[in-house]
Amino acid sequence: MSTDKTMICTYKDPNCSIEVRVKDLLSRMTLREKIGQMTQIELSVATPSAVKDLCIGSILSAGGSWPFENAKSSDWADMVDNYQKAALESRLGIPLLYGIDAVHGNNNVYGATVFPHNIGLGATRDADLARRIGAATALEVRASGIHYTFAPCVAVCRDPRWGRCYESFGEDTEVVRKMTSIVEGLQGKPPPGQPNGYPFVAGRENVIACAKHFVGDGGTKKGTNEGDTILSYDELERVHMAPYLDCISQGVCTIMASYSSWNGTKLHTSHFLLTQILKEKLGFKGFIISDSEGLDRLYSPHGSNYRQSVLCAINAGVDMVMVPLRYPLFLEDLTHLVKSEKIPMARIDDAVERILRVKFAAGLFEFPLSNRSLLDTVSCDLHKKLAREAVRKSLVLLKNGKNPDKPFLPLDKNAERILVAGIHADDLGYQCGGWTATWEGKSGRITTGTTVLEAIKEVVGHKTEVIYEQNPSPNTIAGHDYSFAIVVVGEGPYVETGGDSSELTIHFNGAELIGAVAEEVPTLVILISGRPLALEQRHFDNIDALVAAWLPGSEGGGIADVIFGDHEFQGQLPVTWFKSVDQLPMHSEDDSYDPLFPVGFGLTSKNKIVQSR
Ligand code: BGC
Repeated sequence: MSTDKTMICTYKDPNCSIEVRVKDLLSRMTLREKIGQMTQIELSVATPSAVKDLCIGSILSAGGSWPFENAKSSDWADMVDNYQKAALESRLGIPLLYGIDAVHGNNNVYGATVFPHNIGLGATRDADLARRIGAATALEVRASGIHYTFAPCVAVCRDPRWGRCYESFGEDTEVVRKMTSIVEGLQGKPPPGQPNGYPFVAGRENVIACAKHFVGDGGTKKGTNEGDTILSYDELERVHMAPYLDCISQGVCTIMASYSSWNGTKLHTSHFLLTQILKEKLGFKGFIISDSEGLDRLYSPHGSNYRQSVLCAINAGVDMVMVPLRYPLFLEDLTHLVKSEKIPMARIDDAVERILRVKFAAGLFEFPLSNRSLLDTVSCDLHKKLAREAVRKSLVLLKNGKNPDKPFLPLDKNAERILVAGIHADDLGYQCGGWTATWEGKSGRITTGTTVLEAIKEVVGHKTEVIYEQNPSPNTIAGHDYSFAIVVVGEGPYVETGGDSSELTIHFNGAELIGAVAEEVPTLVILISGRPLALEQRHFDNIDALVAAWLPGSEGGGIADVIFGDHEFQGQLPVTWFKSVDQLPMHSEDDSYDPLFPVGFGLTSKNKIVQSR
């Protein structure tokens, strides 16, 4: 008989293989502990004692109000470590995963570098840039004590009416596949010989990633969030599933199930897609996490038939459930379902093995606490420069001069007087969009960074007068003798279903503002938006230049770098720009494709077409 000491050593022994450690630990766990590991609870209801007593597997960094707004990375690290210490005091000392939506930098933490949202990165088509952004994000996330990010979103957005278009790298599967290199940045590069599908995290400077939302979330009818994707299996695989293959081959540790349905079946209940395809056919060995309250949304009204939801989702192959609030009910229902043999013990063991495998792979048993030596990386010069580079490369020039032979851009840094107009010119919150500082994002100085207006002022010559008027009237414009105007308009921040739109108009009377200014002065329009917006022909004809800047994040300097000619335009449209919303959905593979600008389009300042990368 082996002694207790030997037994404890096996799963705690870093010299043993991960699989041996997983099996050893699993063999010591009670059903209660296994179910605890399968549970992700929300920060707002998480107490250290609940984490310890219930052997909770993970915490979701969210709550009604984000409790750590304006807190610094070191405060976050203290908070996360506190929960981790509680987890380590549990009977078996299994470390906890603290997970957050760091979807464009460590965007919830005040002062972190905020990179462009994925739609802007898709415009760069630069896989190496995405990888470097992943690595920088990982450092800033780990500096805050956090181990796990619910990123990247690898949705292929087939309809810009979808409120999550900006979380996608675009409509082109090949571009999305390319940009999955961000996984390598986040988790590190697996060594040669690493088995395909096996979770990998290089070390304490990397984070656990989550490819989401499996699968077809960007292909729903009319772009409805959480809607139904009606496609043959072959099309689903070709268009929407392909990026997951790339993530899996890079050792992505976790994959999130989508709220959406495929041909009427909710993804959370699809044994075919989650188990037969993802785990068995594609060989994914990490864990599948549900979406937040994904189980509550299986029946209408939300939250009804919860036990049935737990039964369907766990048997379909969900391993960890982002409950995230009413965890006592989840624990009770899952326990009952296992005891009454409706969910086989083997299913529970499979789920727990997967969760433990990720925790071992991430080195959490060896290094459970935060890595404070990384605090210096938060918003460091290198990361700010990287974000600025990303902004520069993401800009797509759509029009340059009323006459293409006479380009309007680059602008003259030494112009006498420049009018800057539009609420988006001086609003860091709008520049960052949703998923920044708060879930839905908000207006104002929500973090540190540079607005477009500030960046313009930094770049122009000292004799140049830059006058900012949020909403100038034709009269005030006429009296000033401006050389030209820069109008910055777009969308206010939104998130998930709140962003679904059938109109896709420019917010805050932006179209009227464009009309009023362009009537009086030569005008460059910069659109800050998560997707293409409806442009009236007369406004489009009247303006001199148009730039799509997407949701650039905290480093507005990248915009000034390019419009004043220090750097060349190189972005290409990640999605088709429609003429009218009535054409949606439209795709380049359709015979009737008749866009304002096709996917991939972009001009240089010399009005040459940017060559595809
Ligand atoms: C979103 C996910 C996100 C999760 C946790 C859900 O509402 O669909 O993308 O990761 O919340 O915040």
